[in-house]
Amino acid sequence: MADAGFRIVPLVCGRCAARMTAGKEQVAYQCSGCGSVWELAGGLLVPREVDHLSGSGDILLPFWYASFIINSQEGVVDNTMIFMKMCGSVKTAAAPNEAPLVFVPAFLLPPPQSIRLGRNMTVRFPSLHLSPVRDLPVEPVTVAEADVPAMAELILLSTLVEEKRNNPLFLVSFSVELSSPRLVSIPFMREGNRLLQPEMNLEV
Ligand SMILES: [Zn+2]
Repeated sequence: MADAGFRIVPLVCGRCAARMTAGKEQVAYQCSGCGSVWELAGGLLVPREVDHLSGSGDILLPFWYASFIINSQEGVVDNTMIFMKMCGSVKTAAAPNEAPLVFVPAFLLPPPQSIRLGRNMTVRFPSLHLSPVRDLPVEPVTVAEADVPAMAELILLSTLVEEKRNNPLFLVSFSVELSSPRLVSIPFMREGNRLLQPEMNLEV
């Protein structure tokens, strides 16, 4: 099949009936009329809720996030405080008893960069402060929900202290259970070729 770079799919917003356009790699589509986000499921366009993280910035990058439980030979990791210990963090958890969250970039990035950014976001152990709907478009979502569990597992492995990452016995016993992933937009600021998230000290 010829690769034309981008193709236009006739997608119509189910809320305001505006036509939406889609890039080739996109798996979710945002209506420029009303801002709602849609995805194809079984040949039907269904709404997809997007959370918005508060903060300043002029570009909204989409991430998948989910709470998780890690099972390993050292026991169960099911709250932020235990997860922080497993990562070797000496920070104080804002919400120690809450379920820990893993973040997976949902926009187009080479996998090593995506894992690094997801890792950096995850080890900020953010407690999510959501804002009302933003009047900025969210950057295209190109990572499908079905790909989130495998990426989340790689990201969580990369957060662990080195002695665990290099311990075959620990790795054999390591497994992750994820809640249903949700999309969240996170505001970043453009600075030259870089995108910065100063509140969480992140860079793309
Ligand atoms: Zn619409």
